[in-house]
Amino acid sequence: MQLYNTLSAKERAALLEEAGQDRLTLSFYQYAKIGNPELFRNHLFIKWNELQVLGRIYVANEGINAQLSLPANQFEAFKEFLDGIYFLEDVRLNIAIEHDLKSFLKLKVKVRNKIVADGLNDETFDVRNKGIHVDAEAFNALIEDPNTVLVDMRNHYESEIGHFKNAVTPDVDTFRDSLDIIEEQLKDHKEEKKLVMYCTGGIRCEKASAYYKHKGFKNVFQLEGGIIEYARQVENKGLDNKFIGKNFVFDHRRGERITDDVIAQCHQCGTACDNHTNCENEACHLLFIQCEECAKTMDNCCSTECQEVIKLPFEEQKALRAGTHNSNKIFKKGRSEKLKFKK
Ligand SMILES: [Zn+2]
Ligand SMILES: [Zn+2]
Repeated sequence: MQLYNTLSAKERAALLEEAGQDRLTLSFYQYAKIGNPELFRNHLFIKWNELQVLGRIYVANEGINAQLSLPANQFEAFKEFLDGIYFLEDVRLNIAIEHDLKSFLKLKVKVRNKIVADGLNDETFDVRNKGIHVDAEAFNALIEDPNTVLVDMRNHYESEIGHFKNAVTPDVDTFRDSLDIIEEQLKDHKEEKKLVMYCTGGIRCEKASAYYKHKGFKNVFQLEGGIIEYARQVENKGLDNKFIGKNFVFDHRRGERITDDVIAQCHQCGTACDNHTNCENEACHLLFIQCEECAKTMDNCCSTECQEVIKLPFEEQKALRAGTHNSNKIFKKGRSEKLKFKK
């Protein structure tokens, strides 16, 4: 029985190309009590491998968080499988608008302590006591209310390329940091203000809303299914679209365009651009925004230093990499002093 990947990303990409099937990209999550995550993980892997599912899935005692792609013609079988699991029956699937054949190249199902690294101590509050879920239409009405404070629960590099008009976008590297910032900003208005929040697919708001209620906020709302579901509803129902720019996503597409507005700039030259990339230097791998022009002149690197590194022979690069673990951690947050135009 196969419980793990055997193909490399490269081999997989070639296979996908060859098969030429349409693939759907989708995500879902569910908080649920899972007694034996390891067993559940194996169950998922065996079945999903069969269905040619690819993606990144986290399983924990607190539930499941999945981002994946699958052949369009396997969707029915996939849905049926989910419906056979009692806590996943009719779970909301966020189906992406744009479909990319190679959004994921491996099936990774991992057992984790948590399905989202949220830095919260769950013992202190009841995660089931969450905010009121609103759909796109109700959300649009709510954010027009002058008494509403709209908060983006994502990180700086996500809101940088797209967000809702008039949203507060905390300049944070982690979810945990933004919780404190928002609470501090609104501490005198916990009773009368309407706190409305959103994130990519809804999962971060699930915890955040419960947290804020625990902290004494009286009117807490969250966008059901996040930006992904909002974009879908806006399109299907012909609603007013209040989101501008791109929705940052965690597969290799990095962003899903919602409107043509480009609200960010190339971190190297300042020209209007909202394409994220990772620095070509593996040891750096910094996530940043780079225009085509700069990509050319900089060889897809974030800095001249990295540009020099990638010109070295492979073995030398590898040796260098061994000593750079610490700086790597800083880089991964998507910030670097080398980037002149990163605010
Ligand atoms: Zn540029
Ligand atoms: Zn770099």
